[in-house]
Amino acid sequence: MAKLSPVLKQATPVLAERGEGVHLYDADGRRYLDFTAGIGVTSTGHCHPRVVAAAREQTGTLIHGQYTTVLHPGLLRLTERLGDVLPAGLDSVFYLNSGSEAVEAAVRLARHATGRQNIVAFQGSFHGRTMGAAALTTAGTKFRAGIGPLMPGVAVAPFPQAYRYGWDEAEAVRFALRELDHLFATACAPADTAAFIVEPVLGEGGYIPAPPAFLAGLRERADRHGALLVVDEVQTGIGRTGRFWGHDHADVRPDVLITAKGLASGFPLSAIAAPAALMERAWPGSQGGTYGGNAVACAAALATLDVVRDEDLVGNAAVQGDRLHAGLRAIAAGHPVIGDVRGLGLMQACEFTAPSGEPDGATAARAQAAAAERGLLLLTCGGYGNVVRMIPPLVVTGEQVDEGLALFAKAVADAG
Ligand code: PMP
Repeated sequence: MAKLSPVLKQATPVLAERGEGVHLYDADGRRYLDFTAGIGVTSTGHCHPRVVAAAREQTGTLIHGQYTTVLHPGLLRLTERLGDVLPAGLDSVFYLNSGSEAVEAAVRLARHATGRQNIVAFQGSFHGRTMGAAALTTAGTKFRAGIGPLMPGVAVAPFPQAYRYGWDEAEAVRFALRELDHLFATACAPADTAAFIVEPVLGEGGYIPAPPAFLAGLRERADRHGALLVVDEVQTGIGRTGRFWGHDHADVRPDVLITAKGLASGFPLSAIAAPAALMERAWPGSQGGTYGGNAVACAAALATLDVVRDEDLVGNAAVQGDRLHAGLRAIAAGHPVIGDVRGLGLMQACEFTAPSGEPDGATAARAQAAAAERGLLLLTCGGYGNVVRMIPPLVVTGEQVDEGLALFAKAVADAG
């Protein structure tokens, strides 16, 4: 009898048998409030009836229309539909299965389009686990340690982490942009730089929103140096932050956008979008994959986009995100171990800090475990595992937010 490899680790001991809306159920019928959404994936909730119906119908029609062999209607319909939500000008779309693959596709595109090699990533970012994406990832050494050498041509610059430095946001932005300019002056020639890749909210690295002035500074430098600005919206996209795209909070125009996770409510689908003139500079046939743009995943994505629009899930993410944020602040006021509460929309987090000022991953882990025991599923993040994050499905109601907050307050008290 084979066993699951111990290389796979779970954040909770739950064996999830069924999901519905914001809830998961185990084999004994125990109900869990799922504030992980499968790491920000089940945007429309678990098994939204319209997503289920679309996937069922597609499964009986065409499961696999291999896109380097044939086209299929869902791929074309989804592409047309994405045109309604993508930033103006990003009118050429290419599909893969996962966030990591899409990040790698964006790197290939940037290198082909510019003829340059270097990619600048930011300290604390997570862009994936494949060897190229891992090279761009500095959200935790566990994602890189012992597997190198990773993809060369990566330079890492500071991300404005105001809480960590004990600075205000403007000071953190000034520091990060000054260090970026220093990097260009000393190590990474602008003429060798193909792209910047940035998360609108640092995700796995600790749920730190990128200040608008920082993203504006990247845009300005991208223009000045002839490099591309790639936004990794894998976790922040499809309404998660209370705007359709995370970078919408900053009014900054990306050259390449990467989306995945919430796009298809749990079916594996990712995409990159760029202006057609840029995409045309990629070498034809240089990208592809067996499963990219899978027909069932495309049908689920179309249904997801309809549900997001028809149920105003972007608006709901903004409203419920504010409610969640206010509730977390109230909990933090009674628990000094929570040093910071931050986030955008339904991407909220509490950073646990010891009285010494050191990151307190142990208490965060105890709070997460206590929450799971009480029926609330949460994830941690941050380089020290000391940030507890909440990413409920975008369909979450005010009552469910309150229920989650009440359970979390008890879990923090349990964690001592
Ligand atoms: N980019 C970001 C911002 C992510 O949050 C993730 C996944 N957590 C990835 C890329 C990688 O996505 P995947 O796990 O689907 O490869």
